[in-house]
Amino acid sequence: MTARLASYWEIGAPLQQPARDLPRQTDLLIVGAGFLGCWLAYWISRLKPAWAQRTLVIERDLIGYGASTRNAGFLTGGHVSEMLADEAECGFDALFAQFLRRRAGLALVLAEFPDLPTDPCGSADYDEVTEAKRTLARRVNAALAARGEAPAFETKRARFGGTEREVFFSASDRGVNPMQLLTRLRASARAAGVKFAFGVRAQAVSGGRATLALPDRAEPQELAYDRAWICVNAFDSELVSRSPIVPGRGQVLVSSPVKAATSHHLGFLHDGYDYFKFVDGRLLVGGGRHRFRAREQTTELTPTDEVRQYLLGLARTIVGHDRFSIDHAWAGIMGFPQGRHISTCHRTDLDEVTATLNACGGMGVALTPLVARDEALRLP
Ligand SMILES: Cc1cc2nc3c(=O)[nH]c(=O)nc-3n(C[C@H](O)[C@H](O)[C@H](O)COP(=O)(O)OP(=O)(O)OC[C@H]3O[C@@H](n4cnc5c(N)ncnc54)[C@H](O)[C@@H]3O)c2cc1C
Repeated sequence: MTARLASYWEIGAPLQQPARDLPRQTDLLIVGAGFLGCWLAYWISRLKPAWAQRTLVIERDLIGYGASTRNAGFLTGGHVSEMLADEAECGFDALFAQFLRRRAGLALVLAEFPDLPTDPCGSADYDEVTEAKRTLARRVNAALAARGEAPAFETKRARFGGTEREVFFSASDRGVNPMQLLTRLRASARAAGVKFAFGVRAQAVSGGRATLALPDRAEPQELAYDRAWICVNAFDSELVSRSPIVPGRGQVLVSSPVKAATSHHLGFLHDGYDYFKFVDGRLLVGGGRHRFRAREQTTELTPTDEVRQYLLGLARTIVGHDRFSIDHAWAGIMGFPQGRHISTCHRTDLDEVTATLNACGGMGVALTPLVARDEALRLP
């Protein structure tokens, strides 16, 4: 078995105790304790508190082993280059609706956890500023103005690798430590009575019965439920036949503390396939999936040397020198509906009492609060 490489955010995070016993029945079952599962537990406890003590969350790992503790921690509504590519695929209306949902999700995170440390550094899109992008940015800003909202995008000068260039800048985007957010979600749900069982892998979930593998138990255990949500994201096809979710591995490097000739914003490159930010004086850089697309379509959580070399080259360009080392490297797995970048469909009913919730792709830090809140509000 390959060693589990901790993400930068997971270092020092306490492992949860593996579950020893499970009940034979629960009213509500949530499978997967990533952002989607934890936000759902959180909203149930906040908005439908009578259900909190009747809710069980199970997670195969002792932290969470998918995307939520292994991402880049960008709280963002989106950036212009990515949105131009999405517009070509799905049209302006769907694109703008998604943008509004991401902004609303971002606002929810800040409103629900005002004490959560975030970096109000804004984001810069370092791809070339073209006429098509200016037109799209103006259109988004005009659509926001029609709703009485402030513009999202402006152009300004920013430094990149020692030279200045014009970028689209979004002032409301922020950096966040995703582990800190996840920890708060769990603590809040637990305080309201939601139970979490870690180290428990669902083998089958349907029709009111779940088959669960517990740590150190030879035989799986059956659990009856009244309603279940499968929130396992890229691992959906292990539980759902004909799942439309296509996995996409994302790899991330974090450097030693480094002086960089680049502005300290969240940074996007190559339509957002590559991204970087500065955390604790270090450079975090991720991406490369577009360069190695076929091999990155996997649920395997081990980073690869080819992507590491690609990201290392990118890191040198960003900071403008090579006087740093790579202190942390890891991979996480995203889930894309039919492999598409953008999706407004997050819920699929599998039977009368079982649904899947997923498809937040590379946008889940901002999208999951909203998707989960909509779901919690459906409860009586
Ligand atoms: C490298 C990378 C960078 C990213 N950067 C950003 C970013 O900056 N901003 C942003 O908005 N989004 C980003 N994302 C996307 C974001 O992290 C995801 O959209 C979001 O975390 C998805 O949350 P989730 O709960 O749906 O899935 P996950 O976090 O994957 O949670 C699923 C959980 O289910 C568990 N599980 C799986 N199978 C089973 C089973 N059979 N039984 C029990 N448990 C099971 C897994 O262990 C996992 O903990 C990034 C993703 C990656 C991989």
